[in-house]
Amino acid sequence: MPSLKKLLVIFIGPPGSGKGTQASMLAEKLGLTHIGSSEIIREKLPTLSGEEKELVEKPFNDGGLIPSDVITKWVIEKLEKVKSLKGKGIVLDGSPRMLPEAESLNQYLKRDSFWQEYILFLDIKVDESIWRREHRRVCANCRYALPYTPENAKLTVCPKCGGQLMKRADETALEKRWQVYEEQTLPVINYFREQGLLKEINGSQSIEKVHEDVVRALNID
Ligand SMILES: [Zn+2]
Repeated sequence: MPSLKKLLVIFIGPPGSGKGTQASMLAEKLGLTHIGSSEIIREKLPTLSGEEKELVEKPFNDGGLIPSDVITKWVIEKLEKVKSLKGKGIVLDGSPRMLPEAESLNQYLKRDSFWQEYILFLDIKVDESIWRREHRRVCANCRYALPYTPENAKLTVCPKCGGQLMKRADETALEKRWQVYEEQTLPVINYFREQGLLKEINGSQSIEKVHEDVVRALNID
C-alpha cells in the first residue's frame, strides 16, 4: 500500500561530501522541494536585529555553526510552512549539524507522523573533503557551488545563472570547517546511528554513483 506520508530526506556529511549536489539531484528526480539550511539562514538574516543578529551573522560568515536552538526553530518552522505544498516531500541539507539540533528534530519527527524520514550520511575522508573544496568553484552571483568534475572544469560561467565562478580555497577555513564537523556533527551521526535511523553511503564515489546509492537507500520506486 502506498504511504500517505510525505518524504523528508535529510543529508548529513562532512564539508565537501556533496550534500547540496545530491540533495538537488534527488529533488529533481523525485519532484521534492529542496531546502538548504544556509538558504533558510540567508532568508532570515535581514529580519534579525540586536543580539540574535550577532549570534547568527558571525558564525555564518566564518564557517562556524549558528546556535542550535535558533536553527532548529527555523528548520521546523520551514517544514511546517511547506507541509501544504504539493509534491512528494522535502530534501533537507545542512541541518542538523549539532547534537541538540538532531535531538529536537527527532522529537519533532516522533510527535508528527506526517513525515516519512530518511537520514542519509554521505561519508568521505578528510583528504577528500579538503581536495574537493580546494577544487570547487562558487558562483559570485547565486552562490551555487560547482563541484569539480572534468566536465565542470570546462565551464567558464555559472551553469545556473551565468554569473562569475570563483575559487574559494582558503586552507585555514577548510581545516576549520573539518574541525567543526568532527567536534559538532560526528555526534549527530553517532546519535542517528544508535537510533537505527542512519543510512550510510560511500560519498567518495562519482556523483552519479552516489546518486544511485541514494535512490537505492530510499527503497522507493
Ligand atoms: Zn550562479
